[in-house]
Amino acid sequence: MSRVIGIDLGTTNCCVAVVEAGQPTVIPNKQGYKTTPSIVAVAEDGTRVVGQVAARQAITNPEHTVYAHKRLIGRLYDSPQVQHAIEAMPYGIERGPYDDVRLVLRGRQYSVPEISAMLLQEMRVVAEEYLGEHVEQAVVTVPAYFNDAQRQAVKDAGLIAGLDVLRILNEPTAAALAYGFGRGEDRRLAVYDLGGGTFDISIVEVTKEGVFRVVSTTGDSFLGGEDFDDRLMAWLIRGFEVQEGIDLRESPIALQRLKQAAQKAKCELSSLEETEVQLPFVVAQSERGPLHMHYSISRAQLEKLTGDLVDRTLDICMHALELARLEATAIDDVVLVGGMTRMPLVQRAVEDLFGRRASKNVHPDEVVALGAAIQGAALAAEIDDVTLEDVTAHSLGIATAGDGFEVIIPASTRVPCRIPSLFTTSRDEQETLRIVVLQGESGRASENDQLQDFALLGMRKAPAGEVEVEVAFEIDADGIFSVSAKDLETGEETRVQVLGQSGFEAEELERMSEESSAWLEERRAAEAHEALRQSLQSLLAELERTLGEAERFVHGDLDAEVTLEHARHAHGLAATALEQDDRRALAEHVVVLEDAKSMVEQLVRENAQRK
Ligand code: AMP
Repeated sequence: MSRVIGIDLGTTNCCVAVVEAGQPTVIPNKQGYKTTPSIVAVAEDGTRVVGQVAARQAITNPEHTVYAHKRLIGRLYDSPQVQHAIEAMPYGIERGPYDDVRLVLRGRQYSVPEISAMLLQEMRVVAEEYLGEHVEQAVVTVPAYFNDAQRQAVKDAGLIAGLDVLRILNEPTAAALAYGFGRGEDRRLAVYDLGGGTFDISIVEVTKEGVFRVVSTTGDSFLGGEDFDDRLMAWLIRGFEVQEGIDLRESPIALQRLKQAAQKAKCELSSLEETEVQLPFVVAQSERGPLHMHYSISRAQLEKLTGDLVDRTLDICMHALELARLEATAIDDVVLVGGMTRMPLVQRAVEDLFGRRASKNVHPDEVVALGAAIQGAALAAEIDDVTLEDVTAHSLGIATAGDGFEVIIPASTRVPCRIPSLFTTSRDEQETLRIVVLQGESGRASENDQLQDFALLGMRKAPAGEVEVEVAFEIDADGIFSVSAKDLETGEETRVQVLGQSGFEAEELERMSEESSAWLEERRAAEAHEALRQSLQSLLAELERTLGEAERFVHGDLDAEVTLEHARHAHGLAATALEQDDRRALAEHVVVLEDAKSMVEQLVRENAQRK
């Protein structure tokens, strides 16, 4: 069985880890970084670029570079979050066939799960390069507060990427796993996870036997570092407008540069009291010639601009404690996860709320992937001292008359779970029964998210109230819902899968998945080609060295001269093959050159023994 990798598919960065010799390790990418920017772009020549390479070209190619796409996953085009993104993002966002979101790169529409799949593939390749073997299975993390549609969309991304996603794991749960793994202590943790796009808080009890029990979890899937950047950007844009009378929002290039500058300043202000934002030629041409931006900003100013965002996270923490029926003082350890927890204001606020210092021994950018790798190893039975008990962050129920909402599975219910509920007919001879499944916390149906609108068909004709149908609501270990229904008298069952809102037609999913696997094949072939080039190059260099050594002593030894001549000939042919760069020829010459090298080495060894 191939190794199971853990992938943290973050709003800003992705990270991949694996368990080796019983310990989780983060896998660095080819550039040596342990995280890879969650950025995907299509270059002018149509090639796809991902990660660091995509980040580097973002300023010159802003309209064809997608970042923070995770904020759009599983959302409807008309949702306020998507409408906000249309205003703020330099790349194109269009309505898809299911009222979903499509991102436009070089005139081609991509669904949001397709973009996620590109990142999953990238992380898979990073792992494959490191492990030297193909990887087929993964555990992928999502914010705990992700709803059904968002989880379903991440599952679709896994399908498109051709990865067998063994589990969709909540990010704070993953962090708790990494934090508590192998500690052998009973602890109650508050995992505060403020990332690039989302906020989660989970209260988790860890036992010395390795049971990880999530007591409550809640959050906001549209609150994160991006909002802090937006505040700073808006401040810079306003300042520039007042000073120069020019609205920088109209230029995608200026917006992209501002976004990067705001994020950089925000990060710098975590360690400096004051920093500068300098954007030379932010307006390349105006009536007054080129215009430059040069502002200084202090940590106190940033805190003033974003303090309410931090307050919002604290309110949500209080709610998590209420759900867990605990006081803040009942928490043993506060674990900070996500890049935004490096901000001093965030640390201060959380430490004040819980009345204790946050634990310093986790890496906020890596801990989620490490936890995912641990869960992957546990599912593959490579490690056996881990048991996870997670809960659902949202209440699930049905719409009732007069915009009502009847909760069937309350938030914080342990998953997986199956809760049956009895429905009876309300009219004589009623043949169909419509059930609208909703997710959310509002008492009004219209304020919650609709998951599924389904009908039970062909019910027995009988007087009102006589037919009883048992509808079972299920949430699986990935946090994904399904509904089944059966007539209690006939026992006849109709199973209904909750498709959520990102539900693709099977054909479209297949097309996306075929394109993705074609890309993976190309990428693997390119990697293999490059590896062959490098082996041939180093073999040539090693052969040159041993040849030089042998040439010093073979004079007069005819057999040895023949061997050297043969090796020189092989060297010449291999050097030409390297120039021509044909993959098959490269592979053949690697074999021939290895033989030639070992023959010359044998000569050198024999000579050394004679001495
Ligand atoms: P994550 O999704 O966990 O990778 O978190 C990324 C977010 O953390 C982004 O919004 C980053 O700008 C932010 N971030 C990273 N480093 C810092 C830092 N030193 N200070 C403040 N925010 C940071």
